[in-house]
Amino acid sequence: MSETGSSTGIPIPGWANRVAETLGQGPHVVVTGISPSGNIHNLREVLVAEAVANALRARGAEVRFIFHADTIDPLRKIAPGIPEHFEEYMGHSLSRVPDPEGCHESYAEHFLAPFEEALSEMEMDIEVLRSHDLYESGVYSAVTGEAIANTNELRGILQEVSGRRMPEHWSPFLPRAASGKLTGARVLEHLPGENKIVYVDEDGWEDAADYSKGEGKLGWRVELAARWKALGATFEPFGKDHTSRGGSTETADRMSREVFDYPVPGRYEYEWISIKGKGAMSSSKGIVLLPQDLLEIMPPNALRKLMLGRDPARAVELDLEAGFPRFMDEYRAESGEPYVPFTHLVTVAQTVGSDTDAAAEMLRRGGYEDAARDTKKLARDLVYARNWADEWAPESMRLGLLEPEESRAAAAGLDDEQREYLRKVSERLAPEMDGEAVQDVLYRTAIESGLKPKRAFAAVYRVLLGKSSGPKAGPFIAGLTLDRVGERFSV
Ligand SMILES: [Zn+2]
Repeated sequence: MSETGSSTGIPIPGWANRVAETLGQGPHVVVTGISPSGNIHNLREVLVAEAVANALRARGAEVRFIFHADTIDPLRKIAPGIPEHFEEYMGHSLSRVPDPEGCHESYAEHFLAPFEEALSEMEMDIEVLRSHDLYESGVYSAVTGEAIANTNELRGILQEVSGRRMPEHWSPFLPRAASGKLTGARVLEHLPGENKIVYVDEDGWEDAADYSKGEGKLGWRVELAARWKALGATFEPFGKDHTSRGGSTETADRMSREVFDYPVPGRYEYEWISIKGKGAMSSSKGIVLLPQDLLEIMPPNALRKLMLGRDPARAVELDLEAGFPRFMDEYRAESGEPYVPFTHLVTVAQTVGSDTDAAAEMLRRGGYEDAARDTKKLARDLVYARNWADEWAPESMRLGLLEPEESRAAAAGLDDEQREYLRKVSERLAPEMDGEAVQDVLYRTAIESGLKPKRAFAAVYRVLLGKSSGPKAGPFIAGLTLDRVGERFSV
């Protein structure tokens, strides 16, 4: 592997080291920005930025890593599941729209807070800044004044890149009208000495807005370039929708160089993530995997590996169902964790519930001594495995040990030879046997009884799980207490 470790224990991928090499000594400001207009799922962008920030830190550079939450952005589209009456807030800043569920102070916070919690659970060394705070505290004041003073140049760039004529009264600044809307007003005059513009709103009322106090914002294409300068950005990753021809980076690059006189930050273009059987992730289509949900089934560094793939410049299709155990096995091997197949953890978790001691015993008997040692870690792994089994596992991997009465009902489908076989097996099992020894008893008893192993094992699975097949029977049975097996085998 071309990976190097960082001081934080988060692996630094080779591609991130190569990007860091091109960015110079620093100090660096790594920025990533997302609009909290719905469920925030774009973890790949943040992880690309984090990997590069960590690579820079590992090279000794001073790094500020910023998550720019676009909380002042106007509400443009109602996210799936939001009541229709939120239409009335169209054009209002997300930070000023109420929380649709009433649990946070705003619409923006409702979607931002869980994402921020997930980042903190991942122990990400990142500053989360809210754009409405930045505007209100004057961080954007100078660049906004500069943008308004260069309205014609900015308009020229937009027209050249898009090939479309911009409206005659186009302004880079969107003042917030008395109605609360950021859209629909026309800027009349700039008063640079007072950090104000005079505008006329949709109803024809004239008023002034102070851009050093957050009484409005820059339009998003201009804001992108202005943000680089205001925050001193030296690196920002972008998804391919932004970097295509005529996209927002093409206009921002020119605005940065030609108007704001600021060098274009280093860049990395990442590709999309899609979900197997569903398609590309999209919040408007409701095809999303939220980081907070994914952290229920895997540890933070596994989530980093899952989301980044081998190289985030390549598209990746996530398979959280049948393909997930193999991914987890790869992850455990790469991170040097003791060997135990994820499928076995899933079996153990479903067999013993949250009883860590029983799980450790079951692992030892299955031959996974090392994995049984660190019980704190084992307890966490069991939670991941159980959550995965509940949410994502294919039906064939879902186990539920039958209750004794269910077991008796299931045994009704067995013939006399199979019942006799189960009774003999239960007499031969002893508490000290490990998985292999049990497997041997199951097999030998079948041969001695003249029963085909396939029919013998089918009987075992039938009375334990109500299925005709299951996990490798020896280790599975070795993990159960003898009482529980005996009770179900005496049919
Ligand atoms: Zn809420």
